[in-house]
This record gives sequence, structure tokens and C-alpha cells, in this order.
Amino acid sequence: MQSSFDCYIGIGSNLHQPMQQIIAALDLLQTLPHTSLIKSSHLYQNPAMLAEENATPQPDYINAVAWIQTTLEPELLLKHLQTLETQQGRQRTEKIWSSRTLDLDVLLYGDLKIDSPSLTIPHKGLLERAFVLIPLCDCNPDLILPNGKVVKDFISDDMKQQLTRI
Ligand code: ATP
Ligand code: CA
Ligand code: CA
Repeated sequence: MQSSFDCYIGIGSNLHQPMQQIIAALDLLQTLPHTSLIKSSHLYQNPAMLAEENATPQPDYINAVAWIQTTLEPELLLKHLQTLETQQGRQRTEKIWSSRTLDLDVLLYGDLKIDSPSLTIPHKGLLERAFVLIPLCDCNPDLILPNGKVVKDFISDDMKQQLTRI
């Protein structure tokens, strides 16, 4: 039997009823083959990250994190997640951090480290993004982050102030 890995998926949306998009995504994650949903976080509202080269104001995001267990290989998991993004109407653009109906990022895949052209695990924004760390902590407060810190101890008051729980 193939081993199962604990993975954490970052979920975001800022288009076309974002809250409904997140709820639909949590349902769809449960339909992935060889995968079960262990826990989902609260939902949070927070301002969009704007890149220097794409600084047009954007609607706020709704973000959440899902803890799943899967035997899907990382690349195959990513492929499934991208299919779900497309199913929920995501249109890919060349521009970084554009508004989207659904964004699904692999934040962690067990203790695995990957740095390929299509996949970086742990996700590169993991330790800097309050909208990732706070819902991650809802799912598993005792989770050890790639920097060796326990997530519940790593979250600062400043990070907490950046998000509104909804
Ligand atoms: P960010 O990754 O900074 O949150 P983003 O989510 O807006 O930005 P996307 O446009 O959704 O970025 O994805 C760009 C590419 O990132 C994808 O085509 C995918 O191959 C790659 N990628 C690399 N690592 C990951 C990961 N851990 N999870 C999801 N996609 C990843
Ligand atoms: Ca993302
Ligand atoms: Ca993404």
C-alpha cells in the first residue's frame, strides 16, 4: 500500500462570491481520489497582495487552509488542484497575483522538500503570510513549520491584526 502524506492546502478567492468559492473548493477537495479532508480552518478576509508590476487595486480575499491526507504524488496533486481551479472558473493571466475565483497552493507535503520548475514545497510564501499561517494554525496548532518553530508560537500579534475572521 502507498503511504499517505499530511498536506496543507492554501485556498484563496477574491472574485465572484469568494466565500462561496472557498466553500465549494472545500467540498471539491473531498472528491479528489486517494485523498481525505482531515480539517478545514476558519475563513478570513484580508487585503489582496499587490505586486509592484500589478498594483491595480483588487477586491479583498477570502482565505482558508485545508488539512488533507493523500497518497497522490505531489505533481499529481498539483494537477488535480489546478483542475479544480479551472472548474471554478479561474482564468490564468500572465500577470502575477491577479484576481482569481480560486487559488489552491500546496503549502506543505509531509516533510518533503521540492524545488522544481512547477513546484516548490514548502510553498515559498508560507512563513511570511498571515493569511496562510493563521488558518494553518486553526487546522493544527502544534504543526512544526519548516523553520523548526511550532505554528502556534510563531504567529505574532501583528499577523493576527492583518486578518478578519468571518
Ligand atoms: P504565489 O505562489 O506567490 O501564492 P500564485 O498562487 O498567484 O502566487 P499561481 O499563478 O497560482 O501563483 O501559480 C503559478 C505557478 O506556481 C503554478 O503554475 C505552479 O506550477 C507553481 N507552483 C510552484 N509551487 C507551487 C505550490 N507549492 N503550490 C501551487 N503552485 C505552485
Ligand atoms: Ca497563492
Ligand atoms: Ca497558486
